[in-house]
Amino acid sequence: MLNILIVGNGQCGNRILDAINKEAFGGKGKLAKFYSQQKYKSNVETIAINTAMNDLKEMRFTKAKDRVHIPHLHGVGANRNVGKHVFEENKANIMRQVEERGNFDIGFVITSASGGTGSSFTPPLIEELKRNYDFPIYAIVVLPFREEGTLYLQNAAFCLKDIRESGVDGIILADNQFLKQMGGDVQSAYNTINDMIAKRILFLIDALDSEMMMVTDLGDFKTVMSGGAGVATIGFYEADKGTPIKSAIQKAVSPSGLLFSTDVYKEGSRAMVIIKGDKSYLSIDEISTEVEKLSSSVGHVFKGIIVRKGETPQVLAVLTLEVAEELENLYSVAVDAIHQEREKKARVEEEKGIDKAFSQIEGLEPGY
Ligand code: GDP
Repeated sequence: MLNILIVGNGQCGNRILDAINKEAFGGKGKLAKFYSQQKYKSNVETIAINTAMNDLKEMRFTKAKDRVHIPHLHGVGANRNVGKHVFEENKANIMRQVEERGNFDIGFVITSASGGTGSSFTPPLIEELKRNYDFPIYAIVVLPFREEGTLYLQNAAFCLKDIRESGVDGIILADNQFLKQMGGDVQSAYNTINDMIAKRILFLIDALDSEMMMVTDLGDFKTVMSGGAGVATIGFYEADKGTPIKSAIQKAVSPSGLLFSTDVYKEGSRAMVIIKGDKSYLSIDEISTEVEKLSSSVGHVFKGIIVRKGETPQVLAVLTLEVAEELENLYSVAVDAIHQEREKKARVEEEKGIDKAFSQIEGLEPGY
C-alpha cells in the first residue's frame, strides 16, 4: 500500500483537490466524507492550503481538518512577492501539517501557475519538502486562459520557472486555454477541467498501487517523469464496449484526451500507458502493437494492464515531453505582458498624470 500526499494550494489547487476527494469518496453529496470510505486502497492524505478563507469554505468533499487557513487579510492579490513572504512567515505551521500526517512514498502539489497564493506558495513548499523528505514530489500546474491579463501571464511564467528550480521531480501540465474547448461558461469549464484532472490523478494512484497483469509501478513512473525536459502531461480515454482497444489508446494520447496541447509523436520523450478493464476487451496483441507504434516515436513506453471484471476499458497515458511548443508560445506572450506592465509603470512614474490632475487644486479651497 502506498502512502500518498496530495496538497492543493490556492483556489484552483483547493478546487482540484476537492474534485479528487469527491471522486475518491464516490461523490455522494455533501456528507459523503463522514461515512464513506475512500474507493482507493492507497493511504491518501490531502491538505488544502489557502490565504482566502472563502475558498476553503467552498470545498465540499475535503475534511475540515484538511483545510489549512494561512491568515493574510483578503488573500495575496495575485502578488507573488507578497505570497512568498506570507509563505516564509507561515512555513513552520505548513510543514507541521505535513509532518503530522506521517511518511509518504510520493507527493503531489496542485496549483494554478498564475494566481497569487498557489503560484507563490508552491515553489518554496516543494523546496522545503525536498529538503526534509526523500519521497518524490510532482507538481500539477494549471496554466491560465491567455486572455486573463498581464499579471496572470507573468505570474505563470515566473511560477513555472520557480517550480522547476525547486527540486521538484516533475511537472504535470494542464492548460485551461487548451481545455476550454470543453465549452460552457467559465464556472462549468472549471468544474469539467477539475474533474478531468481528478479522474486522471486517481487512475494514476490506483494504477501505481494495483496488482497488474503487466506491471508498471512507482519506479517506472519515476523513470518516465525523469525523462524529457521535466515537463509532462496526462491523457485519458474511457471507451465504450464497441471501441477497439487500439483506438482507445490512440484517443488517450490525442488532443481530446490530453490536458495540454502537444503532439506526443513529435514532442514526447517517455511514456507510461496503463489499460484497465474487463479481460474480454484487452487484446494483448492489439495493445502491444499500439504501444510499439508509440514507442517508435516517443522513445521508451512502459505498459501496464489492470484486469477489472465487468469494467469497460479505460486508458491512461503519462507523457514526458522533450520540447513543448505551446509552452514556448506561452512564454513569448508572457514576455510581452512583462514588458507591457513595465512600460505602464514607467509611464505612470514619468507622467504622473493623475497626480498632475490633483496638483491643479493644490492651495485652493472650494467656494460656495
Ligand atoms: P490563488 O488562490 O491566489 O492561488 O489564485 P487562483 O488559484 O484562483 O489562480 C487564478 C488562476 O487559476 C486563473 O488562471 C484561473 O483561470 C485559474 N483557476 C481558478 N480556479 C480554477 C478552477 O477551479 N479550475 C481551473 N482549472 N482553473 C482555475
